[in-house]
Amino acid sequence: MNIQKTGYHGLYFPDLGISLDGYHPEAEVVFVSHAHADHMPRNRKARAITTHPTLDFMDCRGFTGSGEPLAFGESFENNYCRVSFYPAGHILGSAMIYIESDSGTLLYTGDYRTPPSPATEGFEAPKTADILITEATFALPIYKWKSHEELTHEIHSFATESLNDGYTPIFLAYNLGKAQELMHILAPLGHPVMIHGAGFKLCDVYEKYGIGLGNYSVYDRDTCEGNILIAPSSAMANGFASNVSKKRTAYCSGWAANESRRTQLTVDKMIPISDHLDFFELIRFCKQLSPKMVFITHTPNPAVVEHYLSKEGIENSFLHLEADPED
Ligand SMILES: [Zn+2]
Ligand SMILES: [Zn+2]
Repeated sequence: MNIQKTGYHGLYFPDLGISLDGYHPEAEVVFVSHAHADHMPRNRKARAITTHPTLDFMDCRGFTGSGEPLAFGESFENNYCRVSFYPAGHILGSAMIYIESDSGTLLYTGDYRTPPSPATEGFEAPKTADILITEATFALPIYKWKSHEELTHEIHSFATESLNDGYTPIFLAYNLGKAQELMHILAPLGHPVMIHGAGFKLCDVYEKYGIGLGNYSVYDRDTCEGNILIAPSSAMANGFASNVSKKRTAYCSGWAANESRRTQLTVDKMIPISDHLDFFELIRFCKQLSPKMVFITHTPNPAVVEHYLSKEGIENSFLHLEADPED
């Protein structure tokens, strides 16, 4: 199967007439795995096929090409291949892309997480694929995630203890995916949540597809004190809640598992909640799918994954696709 890069992030399949997560002028259509900036096509000529929620997010985020929905379980066919989506568990609407053609089967993961985020459609994969193209963002054995129950407990405790002590808790999380997952986890507390404006406009899409986000409103500087606040880290440098003197911040990211990150940030708490699978799940998933070939993308540590996959007898190589800091 002929696989080429298109742009910084995308893949183009000249023999199949399609591209994934990146526009190519020769491709009939581009399949979009999810609505994070590094996966969305920017070209207004793009004919994009993606899930319903991803299409809604792309609309909110200013996509100007033409978009067509494809549901999980349905497939797209042209003269060369059949393409279907599997739920990726990363953010709402995120899909892994499965291609069947005369030259075999291929699974492209986009960004994925198993066990899945509770604020998604879940996680499901085909039984096998000849070729696997997988992201490996957290590809070091130091990244082993805590269970959903442990993380829920940490998130609830940080919020309630801060409020009981008279502090306003602020969760630092990116605008699409992590912010809404936190809101979904915090919803049972019943305490009002205020979310940064950029994330707020994406919340409707979650509610539309049945993911409850609890009692929330858009961030308002004058009345935010005493609410649970959610904002991206970058907002703090721009004066977010700077009028609230008693506040505590929690940095929520897979990177929070790495203690050396703490020295680079001034936060009170590190909560290692990730939208990507951990190192051990990655190796397990590769073994389960038993592909003939694995291409590893989006990793700062290709040599480590290559080493572990080779040890399992899985042929592999590195394909350089750039990630967006949003992940
Ligand atoms: Zn992503
Ligand atoms: Zn990504």
